[in-house]
Amino acid sequence: MAHDHAHDEHGHEHEHDHEHDDEHEHDDSAADREREYVRRQALAQIRQYPDVALRMRAREVTEFDEFLVQLVERMANLMHDAQGVGLAATQIGVLQRVFVFAPDGEPMRAVVNPQLTLDESEKLVEEEGCLSLREVRVPVERATKVVIEAKDPNGDDVRYELDGLAARVVQHESDHLDGVLTIDRTDPESRKQALGALRPQPSRA
Ligand SMILES: [Zn+2]
Repeated sequence: MAHDHAHDEHGHEHEHDHEHDDEHEHDDSAADREREYVRRQALAQIRQYPDVALRMRAREVTEFDEFLVQLVERMANLMHDAQGVGLAATQIGVLQRVFVFAPDGEPMRAVVNPQLTLDESEKLVEEEGCLSLREVRVPVERATKVVIEAKDPNGDDVRYELDGLAARVVQHESDHLDGVLTIDRTDPESRKQALGALRPQPSRA
């Protein structure tokens, strides 16, 4: 799941002559550009809509081995570099029931073969981004509280009672393991707009 960023925070504050069109007035521009470069490098390794892997159902993990540990490490690094708050294995083409999540300020957690129990008494509609859907954000209704039972990458049982953003993120990532995307869960008008934005753009060459 993608972080909510204001991409245009430095935009349009001055009209420059073309010959003075540089960014020297921003002290942190080099750091910003480095972060953006790292983010794009990470996104290039994450499957993008309409990649078929995003529509497949992942299988239960049966082997808690070194491959799994390395998979989780790779996913955690990609999520961090892509500035996301969650990433499912299907998003890197690995059809195993594994995802990582790290809502704002919280440490990274990895879950294997997760089972979600939703508290259906309270639901909330909020906009969600997705690391596989470019800049598309659509409103999605989710339960505000969820209990997640799973294994950690070592094969030990874990159980988390989550609310707020964490509850939303794990429902989003759990959907990925079943091949379900935000555009499937949003309202018809938002879905139509999203599909338009996701349509391949004709080359300008
Ligand atoms: Zn996603």
